[in-house]
Amino acid sequence: MPRPLLLALALLLAPAAAPAASAPLVVVVDPGHGGEKDGAVAPTGAKEKDLALAIARKLAARLRAGGAEVFLTRDGDASVDLAHRPALANSREADLFVSIHLNSMPGRARATTRGVETYFLSVDASDANAHAVAARENADKLAGGAPFDPADPVGGILADLQDEAALAGSSRLAYAIHERVIARTGEPDRGVKQAPFYVLAGARMPAVLLELGFVSQPAEARRLADPAYQELLAQAVAEGIAAWRRPVAAAIMRGP
Ligand SMILES: [Zn+2]
Repeated sequence: MPRPLLLALALLLAPAAAPAASAPLVVVVDPGHGGEKDGAVAPTGAKEKDLALAIARKLAARLRAGGAEVFLTRDGDASVDLAHRPALANSREADLFVSIHLNSMPGRARATTRGVETYFLSVDASDANAHAVAARENADKLAGGAPFDPADPVGGILADLQDEAALAGSSRLAYAIHERVIARTGEPDRGVKQAPFYVLAGARMPAVLLELGFVSQPAEARRLADPAYQELLAQAVAEGIAAWRRPVAAAIMRGP
C-alpha cells in the first residue's frame, strides 16, 4: 500500500481526540507553610500548617471523587519554597491553583476576630488588613528560598504577575469559592480582597489564596481543628470550584 494511503488509513482508525469539555480538571491544592514554618499558631497550640494540610487533603479527596486530577504542593510536614508552589501548577498545566491558609490577629483583636477572607493577586493591597495578611504569609520567603530584595518586595511580583486572562479568572474563582464558604460555614464575611502574595505570583492560571478562619480566636480554632468542620470547608471549596467551572464548560460547548 502506498505510504500516503497508509497514513490516511491510520488517521481514520485512530481514536478521535477527546473533546476539551471532557478533559479532567487539573487542580493544584497548596497547603500553606510546612516543615519549620508553622504559620499562625492557635491559643490551643494548633498550627496553621497542620490544619491547612488536613483541609487540603480533604479537598483533594473530594475533587478526585468528582473526576479531577489533583496535585498537592506538599502531602506531609515538608518545607516547600513559596516560588515552587505556583511553579508546580505551571508545570502540571493546572486549570487552577488554590492555596489554603488560616488567619491570625495580633493583640487584643485575637479574642474577637473571626471569619473568612478570600484573596487573589494584585500589587496593591485592598486595605491595611489585606496588606498585613500578605506580609504575614510572605514572611516564609524571608528565610531560605531564592534571594530577593526585602526593600523591594513588590518589584519581584511585578516582574512576574499573572497574565490578564488568568487574573480575571482568579477574581471569578475567588468570588465563587468565597460565596460557598460563607454560605456553608455561616462565619463572618470579611470579603474578597486583593494583595501581593508571593505564592500567587507567577501562576499562569486562575489562582486564589483562602484564609478559611482565624486560628487566633479560641472558639474558631477549636472549630477549625474538628475533622467534620474541615470536611465542611472542603465541601464548600469544592462546590465553589464547580460553580466557577460551569460557565467555562458551557463556553466550550458553545464553541468559538
Ligand atoms: Zn498562612
